[in-house]
Amino acid sequence: MAVDFAQTVKEQADIVKIVGEYVRLRKAGAQNYSGLCPFHKEKTPSFSVHAGRQFYHCFGCGQSGDVFSFVQKIENVPFPEAVRSVAQKCGIPLPKRDFASPEEAAEHRQRGKLLELHEAATAWFEEQLQSPEGATAREYLTGRGLTPEGIAKFRIGYAPDSFHALRERLQSMADVETLRATGLFSWKEQEDGSPGPIYARFRKRVMFPIANEAGRVIAFTARTLETGEKAGPKYLNSPETALYSKGQMLFNLDKARQAIRADGGAVLVEGQMDCISVFLAGIPNVIATSGTAFTEAQVRLLKRYATRVIVNFDPDTAGANAAEKSIALLTEEGFDVRVLTLEGGLDPDRYVRERGARAYAEVLRGAPAFQDYLVERARQLYPGRDPKSKTEALNYLLPHIRRIPSRIARDAFANDAAQALGIDSALVRAELKDAAARRRDSLAPHQQALTRSEQILLQAFSGPRSSEAYLVAEGAWHEHEREFAAMRDDVRTMVERLRGRADGVDPLTAVEDEEQRKILAELFLSIHDAEPEADDVEEAVVAIRRSALEQQQRRLRAEIDQAERAGKMDEALRLTREMQDMTRRVRELD
Ligand SMILES: [Zn+2]
Repeated sequence: MAVDFAQTVKEQADIVKIVGEYVRLRKAGAQNYSGLCPFHKEKTPSFSVHAGRQFYHCFGCGQSGDVFSFVQKIENVPFPEAVRSVAQKCGIPLPKRDFASPEEAAEHRQRGKLLELHEAATAWFEEQLQSPEGATAREYLTGRGLTPEGIAKFRIGYAPDSFHALRERLQSMADVETLRATGLFSWKEQEDGSPGPIYARFRKRVMFPIANEAGRVIAFTARTLETGEKAGPKYLNSPETALYSKGQMLFNLDKARQAIRADGGAVLVEGQMDCISVFLAGIPNVIATSGTAFTEAQVRLLKRYATRVIVNFDPDTAGANAAEKSIALLTEEGFDVRVLTLEGGLDPDRYVRERGARAYAEVLRGAPAFQDYLVERARQLYPGRDPKSKTEALNYLLPHIRRIPSRIARDAFANDAAQALGIDSALVRAELKDAAARRRDSLAPHQQALTRSEQILLQAFSGPRSSEAYLVAEGAWHEHEREFAAMRDDVRTMVERLRGRADGVDPLTAVEDEEQRKILAELFLSIHDAEPEADDVEEAVVAIRRSALEQQQRRLRAEIDQAERAGKMDEALRLTREMQDMTRRVRELD
């Protein structure tokens, strides 16, 4: 990726808009926007985006950088990918691609090929659904309440009862090694250990495509239409491939993400059929874990779009356990969580079909907060009113209470739980105290703050070279370089980096050290954008010189003491003269 192309993209991209696609941002100042950090758990926003300087910074976890580093981190892609992605978002035409290494080029080609093959397979499965052999599959889907429009919307298809038909369809597009890598085929190992001929993995199954966030098909879930012994598993998923990792994605996020971002909330269901039914019933912000246990990666993915989640899993034991695990992960990440349990033992798909979309929307609105749900569940699991049952119920709830990041919310939950279970709330609070202490210990040590003078100096050196503030600072630096040598190491390094940068280079780009970049980013976010006044810079320079000189005086005094005690009178005399010179220079500053 040519550097000048990246530069062009950076100049045209608006970081507020790009970040805004992942984080809900609010205006927090003339040029500042803030929101919940997508890189760490938090309930109150400490993540800022600066429109003027085009960077982001999190005061909580310290992540910061420009638009490319943001996309790199959030999409987990290398730099060239991030540049291309930002260019695409801004409608900037891409130059012909070049890669860092032949491996990277090969990997990119492979992914492109796999996407192409999935697209071809999806189209072919769709065709097969309309073929005479697809009749049973069509009946099955109609029986589940799906209209032709709904089927087309989700690109549902049918894999015929054939070992070879799919291979015949795809073999002109790729070599057999690439076909193996799609996950659409199986093969048997031969006697010499080499892989045998490939055959269709999915046969006589209804094919539900799984798309990535961009809407490209990357895998399938296949439901069998066989009955009896031959049927195999009811649902069969694509294996993990270069395109697909099941714990990393959420079903229907491609279609739901706009609505989720607009609303700030998502409905989380278990099965793909639940998700499809609820979506087609007119609830656009629904996504599914699609049969896997909810993972941390999925929570982080969701966090880019939502702050609230209604969990609506199946009402059986497995569903309740899955809901409980999901609640734990979501509350830990600071989500506002509610839990819906549908009456009559219905799953979302059947509920929507039997009671209608409006009834479902209604119960969604009335879904209880997760605290109420958990207290209710604790009482169901340990219904006795004896001390042993109460203790068990409390022990069931405590881990959930501890997980809540906000202390106020935690205490409120503890009090409610104590009351509901008939336990002394002091006891619950005592149990929680240990957890609070552990939480405090894990906090990072507070870093040293910049003095006001250091702030002004850094600000001056961050401005354009022709500005008055810069010229004053530069003049002082030039003249008193030896004195500045005594200032804080990291601040001095930053100044040197800023002074050494070429015209037009972003100050944050010039500072290489990550800790230092963080300090500078925090400074930019805390001050008004205007350049400092020349007078203020002069004053700051004096203050910094004074503190440097005073520091040297302290050191000299100690050295003089030491020399005198050791009887080195010549040395003591020389140091005393140096001290007098130092005192004179401090006086000159006044
Ligand atoms: Zn953060």
